Amino acid sequence: MSKQATASLERLRHIFSMPLDRNAALLKIEAEISTNLLEFLRHKIVAERIEPRELEKFFREHSIPAAPLFVSEQAEFLLQTAVRHAVNTATPKFIGHMTAPMPSFMLPLTKIMTALNQNMVKTETSKSFTPLERQVIAMLHHLIYRRSREFYTRWMHDSTAALGIFCSGGTLANITALWAARNTLLAGEEAVREIGVGTALRQRNLHGLAVLVSRLGHYSLAKAADLLGIGRAALIAIETDSRDRINCKALAAQLRQLRARKIGIVAIVGIAGSTETGSVDPLHELANIAAGEGCHLHVDAAWGGPTLFSARHRHLLRGIEMADTVTLDAHKQLYTPMGVGLLLCRTATVLRDIEQQAAYIVRVGSRDQGKFTLDGSRPGMALLVHSALRVFGRKGFELLIDYGIEQAACFANLIEASEAFELITPPQLNVLTYRFNPCKRRTPRQDAVTHTKLLNRLNISLQRKQRRRGASFVSRTTLHLSAHPLPIVVLRVVLANPLTTTAHLQEILAEQTEIGLELEAGLRDAG
Ligand SMILES: *Cc1c(COP(=O)(O)O)cnc(C)c1O
Repeated sequence: MSKQATASLERLRHIFSMPLDRNAALLKIEAEISTNLLEFLRHKIVAERIEPRELEKFFREHSIPAAPLFVSEQAEFLLQTAVRHAVNTATPKFIGHMTAPMPSFMLPLTKIMTALNQNMVKTETSKSFTPLERQVIAMLHHLIYRRSREFYTRWMHDSTAALGIFCSGGTLANITALWAARNTLLAGEEAVREIGVGTALRQRNLHGLAVLVSRLGHYSLAKAADLLGIGRAALIAIETDSRDRINCKALAAQLRQLRARKIGIVAIVGIAGSTETGSVDPLHELANIAAGEGCHLHVDAAWGGPTLFSARHRHLLRGIEMADTVTLDAHKQLYTPMGVGLLLCRTATVLRDIEQQAAYIVRVGSRDQGKFTLDGSRPGMALLVHSALRVFGRKGFELLIDYGIEQAACFANLIEASEAFELITPPQLNVLTYRFNPCKRRTPRQDAVTHTKLLNRLNISLQRKQRRRGASFVSRTTLHLSAHPLPIVVLRVVLANPLTTTAHLQEILAEQTEIGLELEAGLRDAG
């Protein structure tokens, strides 16, 4: 090695030897980043006005720099670009998406995870994190299934079985659920995972597979149907009632038809908190139908699962304890950073048919959590869920849930009382939809179709304009409702930030009224 290369290597080694406590420059950078982030989170409203094209200019260079940069330079660059123009999803007036504001204790605790960089795929790279993860799975299993102490003593740390898995989010949890359900349906001497879907169906004299969910099912189910060889066309959307809940009569009729056509039912999926309207399916009825059919019941509670913490509202999810599998997103209403979801399983054998082994990594008979996961290498996010569950406790989560649901009811009242807004989906949990409709209290001059089209255009423009202004944020979606001749564009609100007060909600409606009336006047002038 040349003298120069040796010197460079020494500098590199210095970087890896965690010299944080002895390195004044790094300490200074850390302090500066902390101050900057806190400033951002505390004061930035939602986002600064800047066009995407302008932002792309910061990130235009395609070649990786040859020479190293100072960390201070990189930190400065990030603060001026990525941080400065990030979206403050934690501000009380950001009520449009299911992104959680971070409780302050998450920041120092995240450091533990990053510094240790454990890999949950196997115990050789995670040791203490494995039982910690299994404990968190048991705690959330208990939240849903409420089994006895003996049950958890028996299964919690039994490495031959799993009461659930961690994954990166609701999408992977849903895929894993349908993967397990498909493999169980097509288990047997020659398992589907060996011979593939085509051969497995022929052997069993089936003409296809199907998954049934209400038309409000999350699009991750379509991904799962595609990946698992079920086919998106076999993800059957069942109609809903006036409150967006699956129509069980229609479901039963569909099941009869599928049986007559020799289609294998992979799963019925119930929704506990639909992404678009927050509606909750009648899970108890679904459980009875699934039991009658002898098929897998999966409940997608990615959003609504933590409602179980609330003594007042948990009855809405009655029947969830009969589901074979349940999806939960910790990065939504458990307030952990992005990238952690779970699939919980009623019994310890649900995942048996997707268990994997590989000699060099997840060994037979080992405690390796990687045996049951679609993910390979995976971070120790369980540490953060563990922390949230213990720092907030059941009481803390109950307060958060109750407050969100109360705020949603309050916002619904404000909308109903207003002159220019129409409530479209009354909240069942803490999600609701509404739209700007200045003709709410009078008969529109145009026919219904023209009027709907006009309102759709108005609401699209309103939402865009509000987002561009950057002072507050609600999201937008399109709903197909039986009461309306055309799909209607609605504004969608998710209330899960304890800092959001009634005054904030009033301010948001006032801003929307101002934008809406301005747009309407513009349209009148033009037309
Ligand atoms: C958010 C959500 C998902 C998907 O979760 P990701 O964490 O975004 O992958 C699935 N189902 C429902 C009902 C959700 O709200």
